[in-house]
Amino acid sequence: MLHSSGRRVPDETRETGHTNNTMAISDRTRKLLWGKSGNRCARCFRILSVDETELDDPSIVGEECHIVSGRGGPRADADFPADEIDDYANLILLCRIDHKTVDDQEHTFDAAVLRTMKDAHERKVARAFP
Ligand SMILES: [Zn+2]
Repeated sequence: MLHSSGRRVPDETRETGHTNNTMAISDRTRKLLWGKSGNRCARCFRILSVDETELDDPSIVGEECHIVSGRGGPRADADFPADEIDDYANLILLCRIDHKTVDDQEHTFDAAVLRTMKDAHERKVARAFP
């Protein structure tokens, strides 16, 4: 995939099997998702960033997961509006392990299960600082 600058950027869609372009998630939406999730995976609560070391930069192990994917992806729904795929309401923040798990087991982790998981997690985070 080529960025508008002509620079080659990683194709995250290939890695996750999604057909929609995850690069289309806006900065605003990403801030909302990471902020409301408290830098924690919504499933296992793992902290999603690893501090830098003397030799290396910090590592980010969190991924913005689509609840309903684009055409052909996990939990795809032909009736879901294409222009809402990358909206905050359709994303859940997960660690890499749980992102793969929920995508591999899309019948167990259907859209309703993920929405409930996200909602419960974000309410938990909001309660952490009264
Ligand atoms: Zn996790």
